[in-house]
Amino acid sequence: MSPDRIPVIERIMGANDDLAAQNRRLLDAHHVHAINIMASPGAGKTSLILRTAQALQGRQRVAVVEGDVASSVDTDKVRAIGVPAVQINTGGGCHLDANQLRGALEQLNLDEADLLFIENVGNLICPVSFDLGEHTRVAIASVPEGDDKPHKYPGIYSAVDALVVTKIDLLPWIDFDMAEFQRLARSLNPDIRIFQLSCVTGEGIAEWVNWLLALAQTR
Ligand code: MG
Ligand code: ZN
Repeated sequence: MSPDRIPVIERIMGANDDLAAQNRRLLDAHHVHAINIMASPGAGKTSLILRTAQALQGRQRVAVVEGDVASSVDTDKVRAIGVPAVQINTGGGCHLDANQLRGALEQLNLDEADLLFIENVGNLICPVSFDLGEHTRVAIASVPEGDDKPHKYPGIYSAVDALVVTKIDLLPWIDFDMAEFQRLARSLNPDIRIFQLSCVTGEGIAEWVNWLLALAQTR
């Protein structure tokens, strides 16, 4: 990178951080706890949001922001279960930024939400570099992706509060060393909370939901 490009990037990130701080103040003013969910494509982000929203029904009010390069298929699925959802299409962008989230927040009634799930664009690299104004960061890793991901993408494992290992119903058929995977994740992030669950069988959902309920109490 040429030296004159560095200040440009610093200005872009500085502007993003300012907008993220504004988003966080807006969310705080409405007592909404926001969770930024990051994972590779196909890890099961939307499935986890759907399953979680159903488990929280009648206990906490949920809203969802869906980030995708194109389409509104995920937003349609969330709205179909009666949960308010706003789509952000990045038009090729590989991550959400704070300005995009601000536009989505303007379209939601924040007085009618307790927990906001933000589904980031499927990507393990740059989403973690852009603060959106969320309170909690969660990474999802699915069993079929393999147990070596913390080696390859240390940035995201280092930067999240919690890690959700999904599709554990597939463990009998896939060579995935759960103990080694957790050891790798904790070597990068000693304080990380790790959940193991299956949106198909429901195993592990209750523990994850109880953690979210405790987070919602802090809003
Ligand atoms: Mg999705
Ligand atoms: Zn990106």
